[in-house]
Parts: sequence; structure tokens; C-alpha cells
Amino acid sequence: MKKLFTLSSLVIFFVGDGYAQHDHQHTSEIKCLTQYYYEQAVKENPQVAINRNMLDYEVQRFLEDGGAEKNAGVIKVIPVVFHIIHEGGSENISKAQIQDQINRLNLDFRRLNADAANTPTIFQSTAADPEIEFRLAQLDPGGNCTDGIVRVFSHLTNNARNNVKALSYWPSNKYLNVWVVKSIENTSGQAGVILGFAQFPGGNAATDGIVLRNDFTGAIGTAQSSNYAARTMTHEVGHWLGLRHIWGDGACDTDYVSDTPPAEGPHYGCPSHPYHINQCGAGTSPNGEMFMNYMDYTIGTCQNMFTIGQKGVMTGVLNSSVSGRNNLWTSSNLAATGTDGSVFPPCAPTADFSPDPKYVCAGTSVTFNDFSWNGDPTSWDWQFPGGTPSSSTAQNPTIVYNTPGVYDVTLTASNASGSSTKTITGLVRVSANTGAVNIYPFQEGFESGNFPPADWFVDNESFITNEWELTSLAAHSGANSVYIQNASGNTNGIDNLVTTTYDFSNVTNPQLIFWRAFALSSSSGLPRLRVLVSTSCGNLWQVRYNKSGATLATTASVISSNFIPNASQWDADTLANLTTYSGN
Ligand code: ZN
Ligand code: CA
Repeated sequence: MKKLFTLSSLVIFFVGDGYAQHDHQHTSEIKCLTQYYYEQAVKENPQVAINRNMLDYEVQRFLEDGGAEKNAGVIKVIPVVFHIIHEGGSENISKAQIQDQINRLNLDFRRLNADAANTPTIFQSTAADPEIEFRLAQLDPGGNCTDGIVRVFSHLTNNARNNVKALSYWPSNKYLNVWVVKSIENTSGQAGVILGFAQFPGGNAATDGIVLRNDFTGAIGTAQSSNYAARTMTHEVGHWLGLRHIWGDGACDTDYVSDTPPAEGPHYGCPSHPYHINQCGAGTSPNGEMFMNYMDYTIGTCQNMFTIGQKGVMTGVLNSSVSGRNNLWTSSNLAATGTDGSVFPPCAPTADFSPDPKYVCAGTSVTFNDFSWNGDPTSWDWQFPGGTPSSSTAQNPTIVYNTPGVYDVTLTASNASGSSTKTITGLVRVSANTGAVNIYPFQEGFESGNFPPADWFVDNESFITNEWELTSLAAHSGANSVYIQNASGNTNGIDNLVTTTYDFSNVTNPQLIFWRAFALSSSSGLPRLRVLVSTSCGNLWQVRYNKSGATLATTASVISSNFIPNASQWDADTLANLTTYSGN
């Protein structure tokens, strides 16, 4: 490749649908995406709507045949697994917070909630005990010990959608899957005020379950300051058992439940009863709308009831083979999932951990945070090749790395029931204190065929499939460039390409010039390219370039398959804002 650039020539192109760092938006009034996802699923597969219509018919027949009466007094136990998708922060909620959610769910689904007394007198005789109980699984799908909680380290916890479900999933005809995340992407592609979403029975088994924001899961820990009283999950379980919003997701539309009065639309906050008397027409709601129903959008502390009609729908769904809901509470499934009342000893731990920070200068330290799950560990055995000390038995040890390089870390976590070992290769990246490059102009065109070049590295930070790669399919000049395949399966991931270090002690006006090529894909998402500079070997970073979407694109065309840029589809970017690093 010809020497084109004054400091560095970094020639890159990438494709399609990539990571989006979203700005927060609090104007949306949608709090639950269940209906939205249902409509999306129907667009992709009309069978989903057919399944739902058939289930509606089946439930109607069930109720006409006296199904509700036949099921009276039968407590249906549902095995539950929580998948906590976290990146080591407070979203990795405690077992106590999850148990608090289960406890409160069981109060609502047995009408043992203390605020049942707040149900207006006129609606008291309509309120129902759904006779459903939820228990954390004690046996996983392989028959192994579980505390009913799986913890997965993944950046997908931000702006989550259905994409988190493949990270961890148990068969949905045996368990209610609940995924707990940091934030949920709204319909505009932003992290808004979506609190959760469920999937109605009749949808794709692989996505069957409920996604909840961690700070609306239970009412302690990260949810302590919420006024939703753990009722986001009550609401979403209602959907998961076939219930619609009480306004029928249209103005005065029907939820196919006769004892929830028609409502003009969702209610917010907590209105004063009676509210909206006959708002949908004469005689439609003579006692006002039922804003205290769990299937409204009012705050959780305002909600206190399901109706007899809603109980009938949920009972019918639990007696239907659609999505295997009738299998969940069979005695054989309760035995297989350890939710039949059997008492099990604590599980052995599953080792997991993360470094903070993971990029450091030689001679500085990294703290390793233990995220081991399932059984609580009582002892830790860490191995740090290249570190000082090179082993530790502390839970969260701090280790110094004196020599530049890339290092593996191994943890064995144990308790009285057993142990597990996890090794993460190439986890810690230690850079030299003095820049490796001190002759300028310096350029890198990836023409040697060795990738990454010496002292550079690629970091697939999100552990999602695609990462920076060398290619000879396209180049601005020469034969090679580096690219990332984003056209499929890489949404919300963060992928880093980290250069070697540069010595600017004698450089007065450092500049970085690179060529890029990028096309928008036809799928959703806002791919972003950022260039960041660190004077601390990667511990802290400063953003010096940030482009996304159409601004990033070097062609107006939207490409539905792989984008291989031609000679006219490359743009140069010059970072002239690096003067501050002169002398570093
Ligand atoms: Zn909803
Ligand atoms: Ca109704």
C-alpha cells in the first residue's frame, strides 16, 4: 500500500447493522412492548395470529364447558427461571431481589396482596384469586442443581430486545423464562421507558417468556425506589397467560373479557375512582374505568386486581396445549424442575468474573470481580499468569501486571457442594508506558497480511459473533483493509480495534487520517464508529471521532446484503483535534 497519511493510515470498511449508543428519551408513553412484539411477530409469521385466534376460541369453549368451575381450588404451580443479563453493575441483581419478585407475584396471583382492600367496593365482587403460584426451579433442563437463576455477562443488557433471549433459554413448555436487563429498546430504537414485555401464547417457543428491567424487578435492591411495587411482572405474566390490556390496545377496544369495563385508553399515574364514567359510550362503564387492574398502565402501587373474567382466560390458557402452557404445572414437570416441594441442598457455584479495568499500563493493577452464580462460593482459587501475585484466594483480588502483553485468567469457585473452573483467554491487555512508535509519519495499511499487526489487538468486547478482520475483498489502495461484518447478527455489540501505543513527545501537531467505507443496511439499528484516544494505556478513553447512520455512510444506497465498496465509495477523515496529546 502507498504511504498516504501523515501519521497513520487506518483503512476500514464495515457493513450494515451495528452497535447503537442511544440517547435516553422519556417522551414515549408505551410502557410495555407485548402488543408491539406480537404485531411484529405476526408480520413475520401469520401463523402466530392464527394460533392466537384458535387459542381465543379454545378458551371460550373451555369456559362454556364449565372449565373455570372444574378448575376451582386447583392451585397451578409454574416453574420459573430468571436469566440475569448483566455487565457487572447493579443490574446483576441479588437473589434476594429475585425472591422478593416471586413473593410479590405470589401475593398478586393468590389475591393475598395487602392492597386488595384498595379495590373499589363496586369492583370487589369482580376481583379474583387466580390460584397460580410461581416457584424458582431447583433442577435445570439437564436435571442439574439450580437455584433458578442464570447469570450471563453481556452488553446486550443495554437496550435489550428479543436479542437477549438466545443468550440463555430453557424450554418454555417446562419453565417460565424471565430475562432481567439494564434497559429495553423502545419502538424508535432508543432506550426509553419500556419496563418490560412478554410474549403471548402461540408465538415462537425460542422467544417465549418475559423481559423485565432490573429496576422494576421486585421492590427491593435496584427496584427499591420504584413505585411499581413489582407489578411490571404481574402485568407481563398476565400477557404471558393470554390477557390483553384492558383498553384492548385501541380506543375503547375490547380485551375479550366481559367484567373489565371498556376503557378509552391506558391510564397513567393513579387516577381517582370513579374515573371516566361511560367514557366509551352510554352504559359502557357506569362505575368508571378499572384503572386499578393489573393490565392497565397505572403505577404498580395503584394496581390491585385481576377479575374473574381474566382468571378464566388464564385458567383456560393453562389448560391449553398452545405453547405447552398445560405442561408447565403437570406433576411430572414439577418433579422434573424441582418445584414439587422437594427440598434440595445448595448447588455448587458456576465460576464467572470480569476485570476492572481490562486495559492497563505496565506496572498498574487490575481488580477481578467475582460474578460466580448458582451456589454461593465459599472459596476462590485464582490463577494470573503474568500477574503479581500470580495467584490469589481472595474473592475480588487486585493484581499488578509489570510486563506488556495479553494475559489469561482462571478462576475456580467452590463451596461444600462442589466447584467449577472458568478460564478467559486474552482477557487482560497490558501496554508499555512508552509509546512503541516514535518515527513519523507512521502508516498502517494492513498490507503485510498479518492481522492484527504487532502490538495491536482485536477485542470482541460483547462476545458476539463478528469481530474486526482483515480482508482483501476491498481496499482504498493496495490490496487489504480491515472490516467488521455487521450486516447480520451483531446488533448492539461493541467491537474494538486497538492500535499499538505512539510516542508524541516530539510531535507538535499530531493528526490521524483514515479512510472509511460504510453503507446502511436495510435492517434497523444505528451503527456507530468512534475513534478514542487514551493516555492511560486504555484505562480511560476520550472520544475524538463519532459518526453514525447516514453521516457515517459513504454511499447513499441502502445495501441489503454484503457491502463491498468500489473506488468511489471511500471517504477520508482527518482528526486534527489531537494537539492536546502533543508531548505525551
Ligand atoms: Zn402490557
Ligand atoms: Ca373488557
